[in-house]
Amino acid sequence: MVFIVAIDGPVGSGKSSVAKAVALELGFAYVDTGAIYRALALAALEAKVSWQDPAALANLAESLDISFLPSVNGQKTLLKKIDVSTAIRTEEISQGSSKVSQYGEVRSRLLALQRRLGEESATGSVLEGRDIGTVVFPNADIKFFLNASDEERAKRRFLELAQRGDKVAYETVLADLKERDERDAKREVAPLFAAPEAILINTDGLVQRQVIEQIKNQIEKVYRK
Ligand code: C5P
Repeated sequence: MVFIVAIDGPVGSGKSSVAKAVALELGFAYVDTGAIYRALALAALEAKVSWQDPAALANLAESLDISFLPSVNGQKTLLKKIDVSTAIRTEEISQGSSKVSQYGEVRSRLLALQRRLGEESATGSVLEGRDIGTVVFPNADIKFFLNASDEERAKRRFLELAQRGDKVAYETVLADLKERDERDAKREVAPLFAAPEAILINTDGLVQRQVIEQIKNQIEKVYRK
C-alpha cells in the first residue's frame, strides 16, 4: 500500500515548496495536481477552446496528452511531449487554470490520472492541490491544510513571479490571488476547504524549514506504525 500524504491550501500558502521538500526528504513521489489544471488551460489556449466552455474543455481533458517527469525542481510537466513547466506558471495561466477547474465534467475526467500518479510510487506520495484530502484521496494516510494571510501569500507569489522575470505589480498579484481563491472556494464541485481531520498549519511568519519539519514530524508518527 502506498502511503498517501495530502497537502491542500490556497495560492501562496507555501504548499508547493514544502510538499516537494517533504517528498524528497522522505523518498516519496511528489505530485503537483495544479500542474494538470494549468496544462489543460494552456492546451485550451493553444487549441482555441474557451476557458468558459465546459463541454469542449471536458473533451480536451479526455484526450490530454500530459506526462510528468521527476526533476530537481520537483516535477517537469510535458504536454504533447513538450516541456511546458515554465509556460504554465504565468499569471494568465494561473487564472485560466482556476477557470477550467470549476467544472465538474472537467474535474471528473482528471481524477483517475491524479489517483494513478499518487499510487504509482513503491513507498509513498505527497500530493498537493485543493481537494486532495477531500476528493482525490479522501482516505489519505495523513492530511495537511496550509494557509497564511492574504498579504503574506501575495508577497510570496509576487517574489516568485519577479524571480522568473514576470513583472507584475504587487497590487495586481494580490487582486488576482483573491479572485482565484474566491473562485476555488466558491465553486460547486470540489471547492477548496480543509478536510475536518486535516492538520491545519498557518505559515505566517514561519520559515519553510519549520513547516517542513512540522509536517515530517507528523508523518513520522503514523508512517510504518
Ligand atoms: O496549485 P496551483 O496554483 O498550481 O493550481 C492552479 C489552479 O488549479 C488552482 O487555482 C485551482 O483552481 C486548480 N486546482 C484545483 N484542484 C487541485 C489543484 C489545483 O482545482 N487539486
